[in-house]
Amino acid sequence: MVLATNLGYPRIGPKRELKKALEAYWKDELSKDELLNTAKDLRMANWKTQKAAGLNHIPSNDFSLYDQILDMSCLLGCIPERYDWNGGNVDLDLYFAMARGIQKDGKDVIACEMTKWFDTNYHYLVPEFEEHQVFTLSSTKIFDQYQEAKDAGIETRPVLVGPVTYLALGKTHDESDPMALLPKLLPVYEEILTRLDKAGCGWVQIDEPYLAMDLTEAQKDAYTQAYIGLNAARGDMKLLVTTYFEGLRDNLELATSLPVQGLHIDLRRAPDQLNDVLSKLDDNKILSLGLVDGRLIWKNNLRESLDILKTATDKIGSDRVMVAPSCSLLHVPIDLELEEKMDPQIRNWMAFAKQKLDEITTLAQAANEGEASVQDKLDSSAKITEERKTSERIHNKAVQERINSLTSEMRARKSSYPPRAAVQQERLKLPMYPTTTIGSFPQTQDIRKARASYKKGTMSEGDYKQAMKDEIEYCVRYQEKIDIDVLVHGEAERNDMVEYFGEQLDGYIFSKLGWVQSYGSRCVKPPIIYGDISRPNPMTVEWSTFAQDLTDRPMKAMLTGPITILMWSFKRDDISWEDSARQIALAIRDEVADLEKAGIAIIQVDEAAIREGLPLRKADRPNYYDWTVDCFKLSTACVEDETQIHTHMCYSEFNDMIEKIAELDADVISIETSRSQMELLDAFVDFKYPNEIGPGVYDIHSPRIPGKEEMVGLLQKAAKVIPEERLWVNPDCGLKTRGWPEVRPALENMVAAAKEMRNKTQKTKAA
Ligand code: GLN
Ligand code: ZN
Repeated sequence: MVLATNLGYPRIGPKRELKKALEAYWKDELSKDELLNTAKDLRMANWKTQKAAGLNHIPSNDFSLYDQILDMSCLLGCIPERYDWNGGNVDLDLYFAMARGIQKDGKDVIACEMTKWFDTNYHYLVPEFEEHQVFTLSSTKIFDQYQEAKDAGIETRPVLVGPVTYLALGKTHDESDPMALLPKLLPVYEEILTRLDKAGCGWVQIDEPYLAMDLTEAQKDAYTQAYIGLNAARGDMKLLVTTYFEGLRDNLELATSLPVQGLHIDLRRAPDQLNDVLSKLDDNKILSLGLVDGRLIWKNNLRESLDILKTATDKIGSDRVMVAPSCSLLHVPIDLELEEKMDPQIRNWMAFAKQKLDEITTLAQAANEGEASVQDKLDSSAKITEERKTSERIHNKAVQERINSLTSEMRARKSSYPPRAAVQQERLKLPMYPTTTIGSFPQTQDIRKARASYKKGTMSEGDYKQAMKDEIEYCVRYQEKIDIDVLVHGEAERNDMVEYFGEQLDGYIFSKLGWVQSYGSRCVKPPIIYGDISRPNPMTVEWSTFAQDLTDRPMKAMLTGPITILMWSFKRDDISWEDSARQIALAIRDEVADLEKAGIAIIQVDEAAIREGLPLRKADRPNYYDWTVDCFKLSTACVEDETQIHTHMCYSEFNDMIEKIAELDADVISIETSRSQMELLDAFVDFKYPNEIGPGVYDIHSPRIPGKEEMVGLLQKAAKVIPEERLWVNPDCGLKTRGWPEVRPALENMVAAAKEMRNKTQKTKAA
């Protein structure tokens, strides 16, 4: 019999109950018991939902109060020394101290570092391994939650992050290979398995996404060693190793030969691996097929999935096959039924986590009882597939014709950078070390209130626009007063740098409750791309020209770039990322052209997320660079030489892609560098970045106010590797999350630092 299974369910609750409880608890407005009861109710509701959907394997221990990797660190007793832990079970205070740091009663201990979970927008807490790291079983959560479900009459499959992935995700203090810790770590995993087996557990799910990544020899050896140990400790219990977000590729041999009882593969990301896996898998192993997409919100094409399922059952028999989502459902919103106001036709094309459970059980039922037993569902799936293939709401002929008629000239500026720079300087007449900011100024309470009232309908459009214009005027006057050279309007009218554009583009739709956990209690609600994208009307021109008219100084217009808009949205599954990005690029191109026509001399196209979409496997990266660079150029290269194009990126690790960034051919780039003390500039020692660059000198992630001397120091460092006449002075990123009381002195110090550099230099900005 084919089993219907799940790898993990969202834990935040359909109305973000967990978020609300956590934040109230942290503010001392909720007791510990109340928090734990909310958490327990959410777990129970999730189990019952999955049971009601008819799943055969329901996960447990997928629930977490903050993060599943932090849970693993507590389970394994991997607690950094700075928390003064004396052994024993990790309590809630220590748990949240690791997640959020402590600043209380004279104590000041920083939180664990947080980083992105593979190529998702979920962030985990990085395990830290000390010099003499020991591991001991230090939490009973996995056993307790298995028992909790069992007591409620629900048999579950506990989820663990596997030992190799756990080590690979962590960092050692001396940069040594964490794989060396495997012999110390394995006994704790073995103890956990033995205990689960004794508790009567039938299957345990061991997540090893690393098994689908590029592996070092040490990691490969670790896999072999680890699973010999775990297999010996499992007793009667069976082990399912899961991989996701990528295909097994060169690790196929390794993965199929591990001494475990089941293997899960992601057939949404890597459908082509199925036949190879089927032919390599030993006779008695189970294969879990990741057929229902855990990363996207579209309904499954049941016909297509059933054909894949049949290939598998024909080859290895239905008793050896499980149907599953491609990865944990953590990365999709919970329940589409709550979207009462969404356009019904488009809503009917979607499935959130709860709806995906039904797809899984439907597929299993079709395999077990025959397709006729789910005929109505198959018919409706076929109808939707057909509707989406032909719907005019998705397929826009004009967009497609435009894409088909693109030429290479459309991707290249008229002249190369040096002559362009000369005409731009003639127009802008900038001093050496010109100062600017990244775009947003503080989003004050008043701005948020006005937006909320406008959305609710209690403030008229006229009043709202006036409130935003007042705010813009305030920002312009302030920047003039402190003598910034290139001004911005401050982005008061934007709720979010992607949503703002999505709301004005055709092809986008928005959910009301489509929240996805980003980290801890933080959730995001990504806009959804459902169709071809086009720009019916100018999106920012009115605001930028209003701001420009207020001042004689150059006003820099701000746009979000095509890759960033794509990366922070739910994507389509019927065309490639590249194709969607190119459509967005054309919409941005139109906006760039309109801004230029309106007399704007400087346009910044932010690509904050270009690094995020970087493929997990190195072999796929050159192709990614090709199309992302192409899309950026397509969106910006339409301007005359005298229009200056800026871009902005805010992460520090791009030494490995600096050459690609140069290929974007932006006249000026601003990047985050102050947090790493200009470490990033190392990249510029070997690679001579050809255009202008503004390395951030003010860390906007902290309320700290940097002094003038400190910023002069950073600029001097930068001037050692970048010719002075090509340096700009700016903060690391936008100021929207900061308050005016910190922003004012920081920016004033920044301008003073730029002036000091300007006064000292012999060079001039050549025109
Ligand atoms: N222009 C945006 C801002 O200043 C850029 C934000 C970002 O890079 N994340 O807010
Ligand atoms: Zn930024």
